Amino acid sequence: MKIAVLPGDGIGPEIVAQAVKVLDALQRDGLKVEMEQAPIGGAGYDAAGDPLPQMTLDLARAADAVLLGAVGGPQYDGLERSLRPERGLLRIRKELNLFANLRPALLYPELASASTLKPEVVAGLDIMIVRELTGDIYFGQPRGIETRGGERVGFNTMVYSESEIRRVARVAFDIAMKRGRKLCSVEKANVLECSELWKEVVIEVGRDYPEVELSHMYVDNAAMQLVRNPKQFDVIVTGNIFGDILSDEASMLSGSIGMLPSASLDLQNKGMYEPIHGSAPDIAGRDLANPLATILSVGMMFRYTFADGALADRIDGAVRKVIAQGLRTGDIWTEGCQRVSCSAMGDAVVAALG
Ligand code: NAD
Repeated sequence: MKIAVLPGDGIGPEIVAQAVKVLDALQRDGLKVEMEQAPIGGAGYDAAGDPLPQMTLDLARAADAVLLGAVGGPQYDGLERSLRPERGLLRIRKELNLFANLRPALLYPELASASTLKPEVVAGLDIMIVRELTGDIYFGQPRGIETRGGERVGFNTMVYSESEIRRVARVAFDIAMKRGRKLCSVEKANVLECSELWKEVVIEVGRDYPEVELSHMYVDNAAMQLVRNPKQFDVIVTGNIFGDILSDEASMLSGSIGMLPSASLDLQNKGMYEPIHGSAPDIAGRDLANPLATILSVGMMFRYTFADGALADRIDGAVRKVIAQGLRTGDIWTEGCQRVSCSAMGDAVVAALG
């Protein structure tokens, strides 16, 4: 198992170091993994004048999985668009053809008070959002701003091919089979042809998964239902732009951005694993960040790329244990809990691996 480790910027190196600690501990237990680090984002620009240096892309291509921290920082905001850290991230996703983005929204019962929603609405929440990541209006052509009839007009194209819809639908159905066997496909088929096709193709794919209960919801209703009664959902599958918005909304249900991992997969289940949060420049370099989203991303790596559910459960279980022990980084701290640093949290997870 080869893992390309890309710490990135801001808190990236601190949180990735804790995830590497977990992998090191598993190696001492006999797990065979090879890890190699490379710069990405601002660190890539600093090292090689490119947010995705060729050597980083080569390493990621050669690896079975990629573990990424976060990219970005105010010192890079003045760079021209193609050199900005975030461009490195978009490019690596595209280059590796990571078309399926998996974002769980999961709430540990002990953290229910950290959510802005009532604890009874969110306690026990466990949703998986599968977002298509390489198509849709973000990539569709034509796009641009031009002058028409004496005024400027901005335009983008929402476009999905059958094959793009089919492959992400399959990922979502497969995941639903391993969870609660409920899949909700989210689109806007009442007004968009692109969504009409989306719905048709998802229904076609669904014929291969008779055990999965398939439902359909318009995106505006889904946005409302996510805050009204989020526990009605098991797995959601949706396109790139709707998924972008809904997954951020769902992440807020769980209270802390520092707790949520993500995976982005290609057709062979090769994946890039990263926390959903950014590089948090406001707390970078101070050993304050919450490393749990990054550690949980390693859990997802074992579940989806290395197909080792037992090891994934062991990592997730260790995280549950430290939360139950009352250990909290600043972002999830509440009265009566023990405040710990980023590195102490990493050590505690290693100790809890058992
Ligand atoms: P952010 O997620 O970095 O931070 C938002 C807030 O959450 C900050 O107050 C931060 O301190 C806090 N936070 C985030 N992660 C945390 C953690 N693990 N532990 C404790 N607190 C945490 O978002 P932002 O401030 O909007 O963006 C900062 C930079 O990150 C920007 O350059 C942005 O472009 C970049 N960014 C990168 C990614 C990514 O790499 N995937 C995602 C989002 C933003």
